[in-house]
Amino acid sequence: MKKNTNKNKDLIFNLIQKEEQRQKEMIGLIPSENQSSDDVRSVLSSCLSSKYAEGYPKRRYYEGNQMIDEIEIEAQERLKKLFDVPYVNVQPYSGSPANSAVEFALLEEGDTMMGLALSSGGHLTHGHPKVTFSGRYFNPVQYGLDKNARIDYEEVRQLALKHKPKLIVAGTTAYPFTLDFKKFAEIADEVGAYLLADISHITGLVVAGEHPSPVPYAHVVMSTTHKTFRGPRGAMILVTQRGLEKDADLADKIDKAVFPALQGGPHNETTAAIAIAAGEAMKPEFKAYGKQIRKNADALAAALQQEGLKLVGDGTENHLILIDLTTFGDGFGTQVAFAMDVAGIYANRNTIPNEPCSPFYPSGIRIGTPLVTTRGMKEAEMTKIAQWIARVVDHIKGEQLPAEKTARRLFLKEFKKRIVKDEVLLKIRAEVKEVASKFPLFTW
Ligand SMILES: *Cc1c(COP(=O)(O)O)cnc(C)c1O
Repeated sequence: MKKNTNKNKDLIFNLIQKEEQRQKEMIGLIPSENQSSDDVRSVLSSCLSSKYAEGYPKRRYYEGNQMIDEIEIEAQERLKKLFDVPYVNVQPYSGSPANSAVEFALLEEGDTMMGLALSSGGHLTHGHPKVTFSGRYFNPVQYGLDKNARIDYEEVRQLALKHKPKLIVAGTTAYPFTLDFKKFAEIADEVGAYLLADISHITGLVVAGEHPSPVPYAHVVMSTTHKTFRGPRGAMILVTQRGLEKDADLADKIDKAVFPALQGGPHNETTAAIAIAAGEAMKPEFKAYGKQIRKNADALAAALQQEGLKLVGDGTENHLILIDLTTFGDGFGTQVAFAMDVAGIYANRNTIPNEPCSPFYPSGIRIGTPLVTTRGMKEAEMTKIAQWIARVVDHIKGEQLPAEKTARRLFLKEFKKRIVKDEVLLKIRAEVKEVASKFPLFTW
């Protein structure tokens, strides 16, 4: 963004500048976050956002969509080629609306669907009970993990045989291991269910050949476009050949669920940016990017273990790592996340399998390498990051989170107030800033 020289400019520009500064000086380890190219970002503020285009290419409810039609068709064609699928919808506003659309297309109210439990690394939209659309409108059955923190496929099969779901979701948001889409497909076939692969987190790895593709196995594939895919905030729904063989109307059902069932006019600027991101993902440089995400994740995991930190499942097979902090006390993830933020490294607190504390005060930290890899960081920086995290943990350990609710809230309030001025953490922050500032937010 251009420097704001006009004092009379809206305060918001000033805040955006500060946010840009924050992103540059800090190290972002939130595995769902990334940075997209200047090309992707410039398209988002283009004139495309002022156009209404309800409907689909050549079937619009508004006139003047000649260029928008070409842009949307180009986005579809690029993704069809990239993933080798016969059909794509690029209109969902984001991942959650996309999952809602797939569920709405395939299920009737009260139908049974299965997904990985939120506390085991699944997503809210996979049938999390009570508070979500999927959990309230449908009958959710949630599966979990085995004692090695891996998905328990035998449990998935037993639950499927018992509950006869119409839809099984295979997808994760906090799971460090490879998904076996073939196994999921066998289970889905055995009970006649649709299989939705939600690859939001790992699309970039799939494109780079660093994670097996779900396309030969799933009927529908959903992905956000802003995580490892490195495009704009948005989503895509792919219908596979296998999907069309199971249900010839599948693509039409998905289209109708996105519009007019759940959405209005598509965000054309996002559609164009998805097309640009798809073009970038077809280049050899993107494959190199995906490979480096994996190398960095392995290096970071090894360095954290070297520092004596425990990892859920003992490591990673993708872009993501869960640090298990239970040895320092239940709920310690909360304190560590706060302290890391002060030290210039932001991540998010996360439940670990069989969480002993609570989802609000969990005992783990979730980190990942997509953003630092986009910035050009390599194995040497991963070692430094692991050392900084270990210093933060070591510095604040020994402070137990009180078990009682009010005491806990008060403790955290005091803790937060105290650590923003903590000299050890601020010293780390200065070291982080020096390194982070050398890496632009986006490089090829
Ligand atoms: C991020 C994510 C979503 C939701 O995406 P939003 O764009 O945040 O709505 C859905 N499923 C999975 C597996 C995700 O990781």
